[in-house]
Amino acid sequence: MRVKFWGVRGSIPCPGPNTVRYGGNTACVELRMDEIDRLIIIDAGSGIRELGNALMAENAGKRSLSADIFITHTHWDHIMGFPFFTPIYIPSTQLKIYGPVTYEEESLKEVLRGQWAYRYFPVRQEELSSKVTYTNLIEGEYDLGQGLLLKTKYLNHPLLCLGYRFEFEDKVFCTAYDTEPFFNLFTTNPEDPSYDPVMAREGQEVAASENQRIEAFIRGADLLIYDTQYTQEEYIKGRVGWGHSPIEYAIEMACRNQVKRVALFHHDVLRTDTQLDALESQYAGRDVEIFFAREGMQVLV
Ligand SMILES: [Zn+2]
Ligand SMILES: [Zn+2]
Repeated sequence: MRVKFWGVRGSIPCPGPNTVRYGGNTACVELRMDEIDRLIIIDAGSGIRELGNALMAENAGKRSLSADIFITHTHWDHIMGFPFFTPIYIPSTQLKIYGPVTYEEESLKEVLRGQWAYRYFPVRQEELSSKVTYTNLIEGEYDLGQGLLLKTKYLNHPLLCLGYRFEFEDKVFCTAYDTEPFFNLFTTNPEDPSYDPVMAREGQEVAASENQRIEAFIRGADLLIYDTQYTQEEYIKGRVGWGHSPIEYAIEMACRNQVKRVALFHHDVLRTDTQLDALESQYAGRDVEIFFAREGMQVLV
């Protein structure tokens, strides 16, 4: 498997002199399996625009393009690039789009339709010339054919969000963002008027068991892309519950679960190239190989 990063940021694109080296585009990752001629795209943040241009150049004058696009969730930073993904306007293009939806009565197609309204963009979903299908995903296992297996896992984010685990020829590539550690939703402070010992204990148990399920999901991955928007210090200073993880947590969890390499991902828009370099040196030398994902970087799994 080949993995290439086209967008590594969260929230909003942040181009400028301070983000030249790591890149300023929001989430988009390309996954290729050359042996079976499969192209998979994870998320359609602003990075997908450049990926689309590269695919157009690569496919110029050749057969039609087909790809599977897996959306982790429909927060804006993960879908904003769709209307600028040029292959979507080419009649011969075939795209299968997959993703979770929060409410069962709404299909993924309907949720994504929101961004194709004249008040936001001059083209409507119905006017796309490519052949696009939409599939709602839930937590589970999916056979993607040709020996490619997909496992999905709900993460901890304000909106229903899926982690993706692709297994192909004894190799495992896994994504887990946007997410943060599950935590006890009930107070454990006996002084607090809302304290209930039973709820406090149950809340603790539920959080621990959900965190263990995520650990099982990423276990043994050859490459894991994990949410590390904050440092531990930043996280505990008012960012608990925002749906993003501290770097320390990702590294410790990867070490405990025999992950081979971790791509630290979904960088905060305030993080400059210089700061990311400094963080990379600061966290080097752990029991797991880590790197901060950069736009344009390619990794073999
Ligand atoms: Zn995000
Ligand atoms: Zn999000």
